[in-house]
Amino acid sequence: MDAIQKKQSVFHPQLDYQLQMEMHRATGVFSGKAYIESLKDGREVWMDGRKVDVTAHPAFSGLLGELVRLYDLQHSDDFKERMTSVSPYSGNRVSLSYLLPTTKEQLAAKWENSHIWMEQSWGQLPRVPDFMSNVVVGLYDFRDRLGRIDPRFRENVIRYHLYCQEHNISITHAIGDPQIDRSATPVDDPDMALRVVRETSDGIIIRGAKQLATLAPLAHEVLIYMSPNFALRERPEFVVWCALPMASPGLKILCRKAHSLHITGHSHPFASRYDEQDAMLFFDDVFVPWERVFLLHDSQTALEGFSRLNAWALYVGHIRFYHRLLTLLGVASLISKSIGVNNFREIQNMLGELTTYVEMTRLALLAMQQEAYLTEGGHVAPGSTLGPDAYAAQVAERVTEIVREIGASGIIMQPSEADLASPELRPLLEKYMRGKGIEVDQKSRLFRVAWDLVADSYGVRQEMYEKWYRGNVVRNRISLYNQFDRASIEERIKSLIASPLR
Ligand SMILES: Cc1cc2nc3c(=O)[nH]c(=O)nc-3n(C[C@H](O)[C@H](O)[C@H](O)COP(=O)(O)OP(=O)(O)OC[C@H]3O[C@@H](n4cnc5c(N)ncnc54)[C@H](O)[C@@H]3O)c2cc1C
Repeated sequence: MDAIQKKQSVFHPQLDYQLQMEMHRATGVFSGKAYIESLKDGREVWMDGRKVDVTAHPAFSGLLGELVRLYDLQHSDDFKERMTSVSPYSGNRVSLSYLLPTTKEQLAAKWENSHIWMEQSWGQLPRVPDFMSNVVVGLYDFRDRLGRIDPRFRENVIRYHLYCQEHNISITHAIGDPQIDRSATPVDDPDMALRVVRETSDGIIIRGAKQLATLAPLAHEVLIYMSPNFALRERPEFVVWCALPMASPGLKILCRKAHSLHITGHSHPFASRYDEQDAMLFFDDVFVPWERVFLLHDSQTALEGFSRLNAWALYVGHIRFYHRLLTLLGVASLISKSIGVNNFREIQNMLGELTTYVEMTRLALLAMQQEAYLTEGGHVAPGSTLGPDAYAAQVAERVTEIVREIGASGIIMQPSEADLASPELRPLLEKYMRGKGIEVDQKSRLFRVAWDLVADSYGVRQEMYEKWYRGNVVRNRISLYNQFDRASIEERIKSLIASPLR
């Protein structure tokens, strides 16, 4: 049986001819090498005033190396069964990140895959492909609601999910509008939000900008699914959900300063591997075919859909946060021992505080899994993430502060690898910069890991990400309060105060 016949034997009978042909081209999960090749697609990425090739520019080489390693895990004997399954459509192995869970067991299998991505990257890569794949799971789950607006939207979503799953598509998203003037609205100035400027028989033309798109230079597609200004019902052109390739003509990707580039002899083990980039996206009249449009003009549906789309991805965000916290705890604990402060009461208090955050996050993950429910779309989704979302943003800065407090000046002052190799300096370093039960080499590397994680520009970016990526912190906390069912406790208190207190 040749390869095509073999594939035909597993084709799903419900797929139409066009889709069946597409499945022939699908290759399932990427190898690292194939992933790099897939990025040579003519995308327009700008960094520091120049157009760059992301597969060759040094700012991306460390992260690309890590992504290659992670993609390759999907093919390895140790991880294959836990990260992928066989597609009933193509017969290829596809990522569990795109699995549409209909049972609690399938949900647990999805989370096991997520734990692998996050643990392997030390909780440092918020936008590993596993995150946005789960937004596409949410989009699929919302398909019937979208179909009520236009049956084509439902069809498009089903096909998009299949396309992403079968081609192992990595996605970025850009929800926010440009930070121009938050006291004004796009009604005052349309350039403040992305909008549809024209509709044709083939698709829509979009114009404007979006921020921030983490991983954009190394993603395959961008998913646009809400503008914070969607509530402007009198201006429907601002409500658009769609997906498009990063190489779309007219799309410019502007990168921020690379934290991975200022690597000196002091070395930055995390910045050099996990600087996943955040980008502004400029859409200069970009064409999006109708097949990739999922919602237009309906702000009420956009409002309802936002939390539905994010339901699985936000849980994945907590898996990542858990692994980030574990990494910080490990570093803080070793640092405290390396300078002999680990038995001091104040230090133990801070280590205990950090452990509390790790433990609360572990328990929150279990609780959200325990509260999993069947959605209208027929899938098993984790329980509400609202409380853990607000909690994580609240402690985001405190957890890095603890590491800085425990390490104190050592976080700043450490010898570089070149210093360690200098015969003239070496005796001094061994005498004055060693630690308690640890040689100067290991001690300085341990502290340089801490510097990278909590003090240098990369570490500050990670901290800011943790605080802001779920959107406005204050708004999220207020939503939690407003959605929390307080009726019965308020009634009890009212009855308590209905008569004189004794
Ligand atoms: C490292 C990093 C990575 C990110 N990656 C992504 C990504 O991949 N995709 C994505 O879509 N987004 C991403 N974001 C964006 C993130 O969602 C936003 O930072 C967040 O929603 C806040 O919006 P803003 O940064 O535009 O702040 P602004 O909205 O401009 O707010 C600035 C300040 O003003 C306050 N403020 C704003 N409006 C009001 C108001 N009406 N009343 C009172 N106070 C107000 C805010 O609380 C804040 O203190 C990322 C952010 C960071 C920092």
